[in-house]
Amino acid sequence: MLGKILIANRGEIALRILRACRELGIKAVAVHSEADRDLKHVRLADESVCIGPAPARESYLNVPAIISAAEVTDAVAIHPGYGFLSENADFAEKVIQSGFIFIGPRPETIRLMGDKVSAIEAMRKAGIPCLPGSDGPLSDNYDENLKIARRIGFPIIIKAAGGGGGRGMRVVHSEANLHSAIALTRGEASAAFGNDTVYMEKFLEDPRHIEFQVIADSHGNVIHLGERDCSTQRRHQKVIEEAPAPGITEEQRREMGARCVRACQDIGYLGAGTFEFLYQEGEFYFIEMNTRVQVEHPVTEMVTGFDIVKEQLRIAAGETLSIRQEDVQLRGHAIECRLNAEDPASFVPSPGLIEQFHMPGGPGIRVETHIYNGYKVPPYYDSMIGKLIAHGENRASAIARMRTALSEMVIGGIKCNIPLLLDIVNDAAFEAGGQNIHYLEQKLGLKH
Ligand code: ADP
Repeated sequence: MLGKILIANRGEIALRILRACRELGIKAVAVHSEADRDLKHVRLADESVCIGPAPARESYLNVPAIISAAEVTDAVAIHPGYGFLSENADFAEKVIQSGFIFIGPRPETIRLMGDKVSAIEAMRKAGIPCLPGSDGPLSDNYDENLKIARRIGFPIIIKAAGGGGGRGMRVVHSEANLHSAIALTRGEASAAFGNDTVYMEKFLEDPRHIEFQVIADSHGNVIHLGERDCSTQRRHQKVIEEAPAPGITEEQRREMGARCVRACQDIGYLGAGTFEFLYQEGEFYFIEMNTRVQVEHPVTEMVTGFDIVKEQLRIAAGETLSIRQEDVQLRGHAIECRLNAEDPASFVPSPGLIEQFHMPGGPGIRVETHIYNGYKVPPYYDSMIGKLIAHGENRASAIARMRTALSEMVIGGIKCNIPLLLDIVNDAAFEAGGQNIHYLEQKLGLKH
């Protein structure tokens, strides 16, 4: 097993990784910004190193500072968590060149999947269903682009090859707007991601977002852990996730899971990863792959009883997968709510001092959070302050447990989105299950 690892992240995921280290007897180094000295995992870690001022650019994205922290503490591996440097191929490369193990896929895999154009091409070759699209980057030739759009059929969506976090996308409904939409998206992509490559694909009007979790060891073994439904979104950001996806049959799961496993073998995938699909009228269409652990990994853990983060550490140590595909059995249903420090109506972030904190509990309830009474949520980072996960023998029981837990939970002093989450889990449409990606915005009256 690894002797000591460095956790290159903050918040709930850093704490989650620290707990996995503890279970496996691995020592852990926390790195933190000047604004994050009071983070729970910093207090609990075996060692901690301040890597720079509050802005992420100067701390959590500061590659030389993170590498030197690993050097001075004699860590052997670096876990990037999600966000920050987790999908940065240059970082992974630097980690390896500096003599450490990067807990994640190989840098070339991150690079391949990080560019959506090359990812789609690789997936198409590997037998993963993709949307009709431009099959490559768009040029600036108007006639050519129009031809592609007509072949696909409007509406289409222009997307940045380097896009992420729901940004760098533009829907086009008619020929008149095509040219300007391409130019605008290209400009935004260049400014936001430093890469002006854009491509085109069919825009689906009312899809669901369904994704498959995979995990691969360094000995060629790959398994899938079933799917998650992440259709409850606002501004392309997930709000509630669940596993399994309502209405997906055992046969669909087996068939799509097997395809994802084969694709992983095809590209020599290593570690945990997620294939994201849009699902409409019984068909799956690949949109992107995330080459890291995801925020919503706990719902898969709850229904499979399998610890994804611990397995990431074991795989990085060169061990073989601890289970085989036939050992993966889904039990019951799990739902996750993302807890955000924000106004539940206006969504304006609400950092500040947590004056009151009461955790919910009871059978099937799991809380993943770094906050505590007296903790001050800094204004510099993502507003997610934790996750509440409910597991039950079926979807109805998971929802019932989630309702109870949300109404028990108290986060005082700052604003939190608990009222919105309660409103959703009490909604008849949510209860029915299988809503599409527009459900939440329609419910909020933001869309018709
Ligand atoms: P990001 O990397 O920014 O998360 P994705 O490609 O994963 O971008 O897309 C994010 C979300 O945008 C999807 O979950 C879906 O809601 C919407 N979306 C993306 N592509 C399409 C499409 N072709 N048709 C309809 N909606 C789409």
